[in-house]
Amino acid sequence: MTTPPLIDASVDRTLKLIATGAASGSACSPGLESGPWLIDAAPGYGPGASNADPVPFDTPRQGELPETYRTASEAELEQRIRAAKEKLGERVVILGHFYQRDEVIQHADFVGDSFQLARAAKTRPEAEAIIFCGVHFMAETADLLSTPKQSVILPNLAAGCSMADMADLESVEDCWEQLEEIYGTEPDAEGRAPLIPVTYMNSSAALKGFVGRHGGIVCTSSNAPAVLEWAFERGQRVLFFPDQHLGRNTAKAMGIPLEQMPLWNPNKPLGGNDETELEQAKVLLWHGFCSVHKRFTVEQIQKARADHPDVHVVVHPESPMPVVDAADSAGSTDFIVKAIQAAPAGSTFAIGTEINLVQRLAAQYPEHTIFCLDPVVCPCSTMYRIHPGYLAWVLESLLEGKVLNQITVSAEVADPARVALERMLSVVPKAVTK
Ligand code: SF4
Repeated sequence: MTTPPLIDASVDRTLKLIATGAASGSACSPGLESGPWLIDAAPGYGPGASNADPVPFDTPRQGELPETYRTASEAELEQRIRAAKEKLGERVVILGHFYQRDEVIQHADFVGDSFQLARAAKTRPEAEAIIFCGVHFMAETADLLSTPKQSVILPNLAAGCSMADMADLESVEDCWEQLEEIYGTEPDAEGRAPLIPVTYMNSSAALKGFVGRHGGIVCTSSNAPAVLEWAFERGQRVLFFPDQHLGRNTAKAMGIPLEQMPLWNPNKPLGGNDETELEQAKVLLWHGFCSVHKRFTVEQIQKARADHPDVHVVVHPESPMPVVDAADSAGSTDFIVKAIQAAPAGSTFAIGTEINLVQRLAAQYPEHTIFCLDPVVCPCSTMYRIHPGYLAWVLESLLEGKVLNQITVSAEVADPARVALERMLSVVPKAVTK
């Protein structure tokens, strides 16, 4: 039996121990143990999963973090964050995504997935500033759901999401026009539109606005089956973006054959398909993916089962279809957390999701054996961009009356995007399970 590579609840400390040779194990990129400011000036997502993904030219860049935050020790930053937060009191609320590093999560008022956090912020309407320790599309969603008086702050502007960046408004509009030429715009005899756009929460506000304008809807990994049912009640087909894997896994579980799920590559005419394939399509899948969840493989599952015959393998539905098929269950981060909470003591879990969440769960539930399917320590490279140094910087600036890194969605985009979000809220959530 092999020992899972769990060294510490903190992925940061784990990476430092690996880098100095004080612990065994391996990391997917060099530089992960350093401060993100070292790579902020360079194009690219930085070390970690999605490091190799192409970055759109207009992706926001972060300016230089002042030296006082770059050179402060971990202990000093922790103390400065606590002191600033205490002085700000009810004026600020800090949101921490499940995939965020522990050194940041310890300061969060709410911890959860992107949509849980945006909704949690609504319970604090008195807060002038919402500091979103997550990635860009999450801060945009929080801005959509917050009051006009509140400022949403992303501590590091370079914290994007490589999956969200794989679908831009121009490419999706181009795809839509090509599909309208094939399908037309008239509803069928039952009043169903030729095509309904569905965007995953992990997309820009501009795309949420696009689906709002075209009779479409937003989904999360928790409610994707219910959202697709909603879409098929109103349309003959679905255009699903940006994550092909969530779309494929969800549609397959609904009984839609793979032949009726063509992939749309925006760099090819008709997305790389012929008209017959598109006419027979039920779900058109955008070619996006998450580089974190793409790392999980069937071989890793086979090894986990060989090493731990009683293991329960649970993966996120952003994982490729063969991985979801080989797992015991699949579901959102919230589903994974609840599965662990509900398990009898002494259970063994192999988890296919981001390493910060997996190591935190392993530390929180010592009565279980919990390990990541991927033996290589490889955090999300964009979540990695939020370091305590940036959190201290934006908090201390608020104390000086300065709002830094504010994320604002224009009214032109926000109005239809809210329509798409409200449609989602009208759909009863359903867990993605096998
Ligand atoms: S884990 Fe994947 S989908 Fe989530 S923020 Fe990172 S790159 Fe984006």
